[in-house]
Amino acid sequence: MTRMTLFDSSTFPADLKPGEPVLVSSCLLGEVTTWDGKHDLVPELVEQLEKAKVEVISVCPEVMGGLPIPRPPAEPPKGNGFDVLDGKTPVLVVGDSSEAGSDATAAFLSGASQVVEIAKARGVRYAWMNERSPSCGVFKTHSGGGLADGPGVASAALERAGVTVFPGQA
Ligand code: SF4
Repeated sequence: MTRMTLFDSSTFPADLKPGEPVLVSSCLLGEVTTWDGKHDLVPELVEQLEKAKVEVISVCPEVMGGLPIPRPPAEPPKGNGFDVLDGKTPVLVVGDSSEAGSDATAAFLSGASQVVEIAKARGVRYAWMNERSPSCGVFKTHSGGGLADGPGVASAALERAGVTVFPGQA
């Protein structure tokens, strides 16, 4: 089932060139990659990207970092993705599973780093990432049982690499 999503097409960059590579969270494209084995398809975003005739590169930082689908949810106990990148906080598995409390930081950092490598190799200027995810959140990220201001780990790494990151879901 598609979840309730909002996409603000007014923020769509006007200078995108046909064929230009852009990064998009896999789940926003309808791929089943979320922690709970679902997707977060945003048809308006897909339509806009198709209209712009860009090359969509699908990325799921958590799966690229080696995590399975589905997987137990994980988030930093405090702070946002910048804090994880700076080693100020780990990413820990949360919830009721037997893995609760285990450290998922290495997988999150690995996924973020792979996404940045793709962005650099392809000269990516823009990305659309899934708001609130501890990897892909843009303005908000799950943290400490709630939401923290700031991006998730992969979006933070992309921003540091000079990529402009938009929330594909709000
Ligand atoms: S929000 Fe990001 S890490 Fe989570 S499933 Fe979507 S693409 Fe993967």
